[in-house]
Amino acid sequence: MAAPIYCNFINGRDAASARGKTFENRNPADTNDLIGLFQDSGPEDARCAVAAAAEAFRTWRNVPAPRRADVLFRAGRILSERKEQLAREMTREMGKVLEEARGDVQEAIDMAFFMAGEGRRLYGQTTPSELPDKFCMTVRMPLGVCALITPWNFPMAIPSWKIFPALVCGDTVVIKPASDTPLSCWNLVHILHEAGAPPGVVNLVTGSGSGVGQPLAADPDVRLVSFTGSTAVGRSVSETCAPAFKHCNLEMGGKNVIIILEDADLDLAVDGCLWGAFGTTGQRCTAASRIVVEEQVYNAFLERLAGRARALRIGNGLDPSVQMGPLINEKQLHSVDEYVRIGQAEGARLVCGGHPLRHGPLASGWFYAPTVFADVDPRMRIAQEEIFGPVVSVIPCRGLDHAIEIGNGVAYGLSSSIYTRDVNAAFRAMREMYTGIFYVNAPTIGAEVHLPFGGTKDTGNGHRESGLAALDQFSEWKSVYVDYSNRLQRAQIDTE
Ligand code: NAP
Ligand code: MG
Repeated sequence: MAAPIYCNFINGRDAASARGKTFENRNPADTNDLIGLFQDSGPEDARCAVAAAAEAFRTWRNVPAPRRADVLFRAGRILSERKEQLAREMTREMGKVLEEARGDVQEAIDMAFFMAGEGRRLYGQTTPSELPDKFCMTVRMPLGVCALITPWNFPMAIPSWKIFPALVCGDTVVIKPASDTPLSCWNLVHILHEAGAPPGVVNLVTGSGSGVGQPLAADPDVRLVSFTGSTAVGRSVSETCAPAFKHCNLEMGGKNVIIILEDADLDLAVDGCLWGAFGTTGQRCTAASRIVVEEQVYNAFLERLAGRARALRIGNGLDPSVQMGPLINEKQLHSVDEYVRIGQAEGARLVCGGHPLRHGPLASGWFYAPTVFADVDPRMRIAQEEIFGPVVSVIPCRGLDHAIEIGNGVAYGLSSSIYTRDVNAAFRAMREMYTGIFYVNAPTIGAEVHLPFGGTKDTGNGHRESGLAALDQFSEWKSVYVDYSNRLQRAQIDTE
């Protein structure tokens, strides 16, 4: 059977790319499995989508927010009804195990209902004036057309984090999903259409970063670019946005740390580290790629972690007995393998894994063995650079202060965690770790949609996604003064 062809979605209609080219979406667990052909679009398609979004903004911005939210409520219900099928399609295009793909869809459902509720809030402030017979308040204004550029590791959750708050705030969007996982975003956009999003409010253009992402960011009718992906691409997006002072929200890489103190419940810590390091095959921006362990329990911890890592069942994520799926693509496999060689060359001790898996049914996918490095020096590249694969570095430390110093000693600042039973140590670490997310007795992954999400330093440029913080991304404040005194009153002057 011929692979299905998926179109762009512009102004409520399917649209082929102007130059008539397509690209393939393949299953990373079995590259013989062709999922479909997607439009290999270019700047002219991006322009067309922005024009549609700009036109739609003229009416959408004035649709009452509770009515805009109705679209999200309906989308949330459709997503719930189709959760299983959407999750299966996601596992097939992205590789993460089915249970995690269900979680990815659930995150979109949660975000739909959370943001839909905001349709009846979107609270501003009312506040006294310093002058008599004068009224002061703040209201949120929509921004206009938002360009959304998303990565492949959360193919539905991350698009939902951006699209839903944008819509409830009254913005219109053009989304360019990652080329490795366009189907999940295509599904989400079509569900929004079914849920009643008017033509032009949500547009989808697939294609490469340079062919679509860059022209979207540069388009003069785009007011905001919300990007999640690598720090290198984020920097270039930021440079593209700067001359026109576009709002530019970046969520980028991580080098997250779990600290294990000698009083920790070691079994609990091992469970957490296994999930934090190898969940989603280590391809989470919040993945634990460094584990800093107090010397007294270092050997005991290492032995247990390595034993559990060796026993993980690797394979196609649709098989319910499988615990870890493949890497996303060949390039990522080579990049992970290269980091393993670098770690060995730097003198880190390879405890387990460290090689691709190519036997039997794994031969046609991008599988890599769960890899643990021990005796890692925090200055080594494997302890500093984002690897984005199932590779974790275990680093010995002399105590809490040393652990905090190592934990903060990287360019990124997304997520960190501590395992301890000492409440004083937990609170000190909470205060000292300069990361946007912090966990106690839980791994570095596991964010919930009603809390802000994002990081410091090279991870982000200051804002947060998700939670109520997302509203600050996708709207702007207008301060309103109403003077009903019938005379000129001058602020700061006529206040005596
Ligand atoms: P990526 O290569 O930076 O790609 C992200 C998105 O940007 C994709 O849609 C990509 O398109 C597009 N893109 C590429 N070049 C572009 C350009 N010059 N201009 C505009 N857009 C461009 O990142 P990735 O490999 O997909 O994702 C992994 C990275 O994302 C990791 O660094 C990870 O830490 C980060 N991440 C961060 C978070 C967070 O919230 N902090 C969450 C998830 C992932 P193509 O797919 O067509 O290349
Ligand atoms: Mg794919």
